[in-house]
Amino acid sequence: MRALSLAIDAHHALTPELRERIVENVRTRMQEHPYRLLSPEHFRALAALDTAGPPVVSLYLQLTPERRVGSGWRSALSALSHRISRTTDQSTRASVNADIEDIQGALDQQLPELGRGAAFFACRERGIWRQIALPIPLPDSIQIGPRPYLRPLLRTWGRSDRMLLALLSREQSRFFVSHLGTIEEIYRVKGQRIRGMLTDRVPRDRRDALAIQLMKDEAKALASMAEIIGQEFETSHILLCAPPDMSAAFRGHLSKESLSRLTAFETSVHASSAEIGAAAAAIQDQLKAQEERELIDRLREANPVAVSTGTQETLDCLSEGRVLTLVIDDSYAAAGTQCRLCGSLFEDARLSKCPVCGEADLDAVDDLVEAALQQALERRAQIAFVRDPACRSALSDKAPLQALLRY
Ligand SMILES: [Zn+2]
Repeated sequence: MRALSLAIDAHHALTPELRERIVENVRTRMQEHPYRLLSPEHFRALAALDTAGPPVVSLYLQLTPERRVGSGWRSALSALSHRISRTTDQSTRASVNADIEDIQGALDQQLPELGRGAAFFACRERGIWRQIALPIPLPDSIQIGPRPYLRPLLRTWGRSDRMLLALLSREQSRFFVSHLGTIEEIYRVKGQRIRGMLTDRVPRDRRDALAIQLMKDEAKALASMAEIIGQEFETSHILLCAPPDMSAAFRGHLSKESLSRLTAFETSVHASSAEIGAAAAAIQDQLKAQEERELIDRLREANPVAVSTGTQETLDCLSEGRVLTLVIDDSYAAAGTQCRLCGSLFEDARLSKCPVCGEADLDAVDDLVEAALQQALERRAQIAFVRDPACRSALSDKAPLQALLRY
């Protein structure tokens, strides 16, 4: 797998056109290659998709080591497709079978190197095709309907689940995005060939000063690229590995916001993605735990009217559109109820009519958290998972579902 590469030096300054090209390249790249991490923009585009008719097949398949050996995944895929064939009419079945054939073809061709599984969203009739590497194991499932079934993916969509890794050196600089421990190289920049540029025409006593100036120019361009990639992927932190002089120059050109979310780490700029991911893992866990602790403190110390600290209260605020950040104990699982008319969610799974609007037509919801996540996405609320054991127990003292409120 090759990252996009680009040269920035005295002859190729980071012009607005070049900047635009970088953004375009990053976006195109995220569409082309199979088994990409999903960028937030693509995620929102999927969430907005509606064929208003032809069924989209949404299929989640775990890829455990056993399933990766030989074609171990085949029997799991065939079990999933049987689930559908029993329950649908003939024309839907034909359409779904065509999509499953395409999915099988894609898996035959290449299993994702990254991740713990794969998700597919396919509708041949409408030319819809997405294959995504899953950073966490999600249960096997298949759903058909006019809209992609994204709820399980929402569990990987916490606000500090994506981070940017910047590895800088004079020869080359590399940018990675990690998503819950899965890591992918996004961009590679060739450094300047300083020795070649400092020919005999440059007086010997000026060479050092010139070399430093070139390094500073390059660091400025790299800082600008880090900001672009960070915005594109909505990453929460920057992990930086760079020699001291480049590090100082790079930091000097970052925004205040990025700078406050930057941490140094050590690895080799020539290492493989997997090695770099491993080198960053411990520090990423620390950053996440620290973020979770800060969130718990904010919930505890905030004015009581600015937070919601009970599960049902949080669900009420969520459907009213008042939630700014939904905070979820990642291990919480419960069934619930959803009103078909007003969409409100309820912890009580045995309700006979909606306490908000009086509607008697209620849906049983087997995973209340996923339903709440879907609502958070629709209401543009941020999502924060609490995964650290100490933070989880601090949260659960009150409720596994809480929120910081907009008003
Ligand atoms: Zn209702």
